[in-house]
Amino acid sequence: MARVLRDSYGRVADDLRISVTDRCNFRCIYCMPAEGLKWLGREEILRYEEIRRLARLFVERYGVRTIRITGGEPLVRMKVEELVGMIGELDPTLDITMTTNGVLLAGKAEKLAAAGLKRVNVSLDTLSLDRFHDIARVDAFAKVMDGLRAAEEAGLKPIKLNVVVMKGHNDDEAVDFARLAREKGYEVRFIEFMPLDGDGIWKPDLVVPSQVLQERIEDQFPLVVLQEDRPAPSHNYRFADGAPGGVGFISSVSQAFCTTCNRVRLTAEGGLRTCLFSLHETPLRDLMRGGASDDTLGHVIEAAIWQKEEGHEIGQAGFIKPAKSMSQIGG
Ligand code: SAM
Ligand code: SF4
Repeated sequence: MARVLRDSYGRVADDLRISVTDRCNFRCIYCMPAEGLKWLGREEILRYEEIRRLARLFVERYGVRTIRITGGEPLVRMKVEELVGMIGELDPTLDITMTTNGVLLAGKAEKLAAAGLKRVNVSLDTLSLDRFHDIARVDAFAKVMDGLRAAEEAGLKPIKLNVVVMKGHNDDEAVDFARLAREKGYEVRFIEFMPLDGDGIWKPDLVVPSQVLQERIEDQFPLVVLQEDRPAPSHNYRFADGAPGGVGFISSVSQAFCTTCNRVRLTAEGGLRTCLFSLHETPLRDLMRGGASDDTLGHVIEAAIWQKEEGHEIGQAGFIKPAKSMSQIGG
């Protein structure tokens, strides 16, 4: 029986998010500056063998069951499907998922599914062509739509859409997204804008509390709460009239889920982060490259998780924004 990764507040980390690159082909206004960021060098990034080794430790030693591949944009990393296959070989019953902006998905969906990817979350913040360009700062709306179709055809279901909501940018589209969820059977997740943007534009006024969106949706489409087996970061609902799909709300700012957080993150350069808002991370890459044994790595990982922060303090006087943006952490 595997040990578990428990922190000093009693939470167990069993959801691992692995960033495979800090690079991205979008420049979403809530994430990355228009000019991009200073990318990591090739040698600084974990090799697939190194990621596999860490994933093995998390799965075999510590009973991690969910692995999400993310970035930056994971599909810009060469042959990322090979990594999916390498992780899948550890245990075919693992829940391996990916968060992607979708622009390269059409060419990759089948390969990813064949390699063992179970589902995808596609980030899509607007259903308007013009707004898409204003938010992502690239013209890729049609390609993302192609990507969604390809993911469905490849069986990467249920498809989840991640919608980061910003006041004055897309908060008037909640009902349209709910309608799309019903038509397509998508699970739409509305995410509150967090202070992890590369441009430093975040301010409380730009955050739209999930409650507001939920009320707007319920005016049109009554919702029924889904009882989860265990506490989840998003509050999820199905449609009361039995239509397919559903909506969920990730209220990281208005109603933080820190007390039940089960997430742990590995950055592209092999830093272990216990919280999105951590002010420090535990570097694992150089330990591995220096020849550390699994036991040594395990001790370092256990000690880092034990010190997981109690929670973040967004909006409070003591809050300190981490130096890294979401794309550098791995959302
Ligand atoms: N590039 C991929 C994508 O966009 O799906 C994966 C990486 S992205 C950093 C992961 C998720 O973080 C996306 O759903 C994105 O919308 C979300 N995200 C990025 N910046 C955010 C912010 N400041 N607040 C809330 N969510 C954010
Ligand atoms: Fe790229 Fe994803 Fe950040 Fe947008 S949210 S800039 S797609 S990493």
